[in-house]
Amino acid sequence: MQTIWAETALLSSGWASDVRVDVDDAGRISAIETGVPATGQRVPMLLPAPVNVHSHAFQRAMAGLTEKRGPDPRDSFWTWRQLMFRFLDRLTPDHIEAITAFVQMEMLEAGYACNAEFHYLHHQPGGAAYDTLAETAHRVIAASEQTGIGLCLLPVLYQFGGCDGRDLGPGQIRFGNDLERYTALREDAGRLLNAPDANLGASPHSLRAVGREDLAQVAQLFPQGPIHMHLAEQRAEVTEVEAAWGARPVEWALQNMEIDSRWCMIHCTQMTSEETEALARSQAVAGLCPITESSLGDGIFDGIRWANAGGAMAVGSDSNIRIALAEELRTLDYSQRLRDGSRAAFASADKSTGRRLFDAVLEGGAQATQRQAGKLEVGAWADMLTLDTGSEHLWGRKDDTALDAWIFAGDDRLVRDVWSAGRHMVTGGQHRRRPEIVAAYKQTIDALKAAL
Ligand code: ZN
Repeated sequence: MQTIWAETALLSSGWASDVRVDVDDAGRISAIETGVPATGQRVPMLLPAPVNVHSHAFQRAMAGLTEKRGPDPRDSFWTWRQLMFRFLDRLTPDHIEAITAFVQMEMLEAGYACNAEFHYLHHQPGGAAYDTLAETAHRVIAASEQTGIGLCLLPVLYQFGGCDGRDLGPGQIRFGNDLERYTALREDAGRLLNAPDANLGASPHSLRAVGREDLAQVAQLFPQGPIHMHLAEQRAEVTEVEAAWGARPVEWALQNMEIDSRWCMIHCTQMTSEETEALARSQAVAGLCPITESSLGDGIFDGIRWANAGGAMAVGSDSNIRIALAEELRTLDYSQRLRDGSRAAFASADKSTGRRLFDAVLEGGAQATQRQAGKLEVGAWADMLTLDTGSEHLWGRKDDTALDAWIFAGDDRLVRDVWSAGRHMVTGGQHRRRPEIVAAYKQTIDALKAAL
């Protein structure tokens, strides 16, 4: 058992002082007491640690390679995607494991306790299956065992190269499965998920990559666990879906799929006002990736309208070009301010901007991964982080204003300790296995550089 004592902690009931939190050997919070004398490990400020709801870990190794002007002067998401396809054609299972461990280490150091990995790189270069069908998914699991992060594994169903059902292009053949092989692969992946807090979901990649009939049935085919899907990310996608299926992506999804609280819709940056309100009411979580959406020029999620309609939301680092929790939240709020000419966009009558965003992504992230977490409460997984209130960035700030100072004035270097389901993986701001994880990552980058 571990005992942590915090000067201040953000409990489900709000801020509290002199808080003792007991964590049992299974990794769950077993007791919380407030107003008690210091005991156990003393920390200044204790917060629940959120879930990172969207990641393609391997893309981390491409960061910095896609900022030059491409051959197409209107360089866009689509030219970025071409480089991504070329890059991933070089990746071996060993590379995938090393990059994923590095990504998960960075997530933990940023304050995330769980990685929802939207995993679609399934097969060998050329498209043949590995001897073990879920080989690469097993490498993601191995990485999570090394890093100690909570894992929500989301094997991805990817069938077609576009809405017209065309064959996969050369860059996509490592992703492809028909429904039968996908079902087998997903089961094989789940076999090695041994951590008690790990779980398995299902992920139709997008409306572009999965057949209409299968999309309509996904919820019945996989009756347990979360379901994640990319939706309405790029304008070209809206045009393609509209031309092929006669409706805009969100419109089509709402009309043809059984969307409820099991779903997490990733991006949703291309929605009309009506679509925003209707999708918010469906109880699906919006999985937002503001840093990647900025990087790729996807568009701006209509967050204020979504929140006012009661929509749930969470954040993820998607392309992993930069893994930064505070910055993800800041970018989300700033995107609304830039569009609307507003300030403190997400602030409400009773909560500051930072507090409202943080509360929202804690709750949304737990819902989107069906993880019993996101709050400091007896029975929940001990997903927790501490902030360094002795830092000049937080000096003199308290409670909600400390959260605001972290998110808008500071950065994730203020995160000192992180626990995932009781596994105390980050201390003093650094992952316990940082040296070996970084060394393996650098070796991988060297090998890939030679091949690119
Ligand atoms: Zn994505």
